Amino acid sequence: MKSMLVAGNWKMNKNISESISLVSEILSWMNNKTLKSKVLVCPPFTSITSVQKLAEKTSLLIGAQNCHYEEKGAYTGEISPSMLKNAGCEFVIVGHSERRTYFLENDDIINKKILSLLAHNLKPIFCLGETLSERNSGMTYSVIENQILLGLKNISSEQITQIVIAYEPVWAIGTGVTASIEQIDEAHSFIRQNLTELFGKVANDVLILYGGSVNSQNCLEIFTIPEVNGALVGGASLIGSEFISIIESAETIAKSTQ
Ligand code: PEP
Repeated sequence: MKSMLVAGNWKMNKNISESISLVSEILSWMNNKTLKSKVLVCPPFTSITSVQKLAEKTSLLIGAQNCHYEEKGAYTGEISPSMLKNAGCEFVIVGHSERRTYFLENDDIINKKILSLLAHNLKPIFCLGETLSERNSGMTYSVIENQILLGLKNISSEQITQIVIAYEPVWAIGTGVTASIEQIDEAHSFIRQNLTELFGKVANDVLILYGGSVNSQNCLEIFTIPEVNGALVGGASLIGSEFISIIESAETIAKSTQ
């Protein structure tokens, strides 16, 4: 069976009561179902505890959208991996293009975060992908290769399966423009091949998600691409019915590949 993960990145949206209402909708749909796909929500920090309380004793997974790599100290405004672990998170998104662009996070910082998360038994969702100008100038694959090499520096083949990769072409995030099936297929195969060269056979067990304007209408076709193991969903994860419909498509694929 193909392993599938549907992850919602809520970004800077939803206050506590809005978060409770969204997650309650998802949970009431999940109730009594044994899903073959994993379902994850990444609320803003302020909602994690409320969401975690609701999700306790359910199969809904909780993640955060960012962290610092240090354990503790004078880093005003930052949150450490152990704090997130303590709050009930299992996953943390790192390397999102919005953090690379607006908060100037580079490959070195991203690598430090990944190493720190693994040391705290948290699973990084490592985002990578090219900008439009990089794609237009034929640099897509060199950019991806470089991001993998630098982001996964000093990661062992024992650790790699704890990391989820999210291929997110920057030009497709929040734009309503989805990469074509061919573009996604090629990029995911390229990523899998790179991981195999670096880590050997275990690379086959690494989940590679696609992210970039995924919605209930386009997800099924994307999920049929062999090296796609689900999606990192931004905008569409903020609407309960949309997110549920994306999970249903992931279920269709998981069941059809049993
Ligand atoms: C994202 O935030 O990772 C993302 C893919 O956003 P959207 O689905 O809105 O493009």
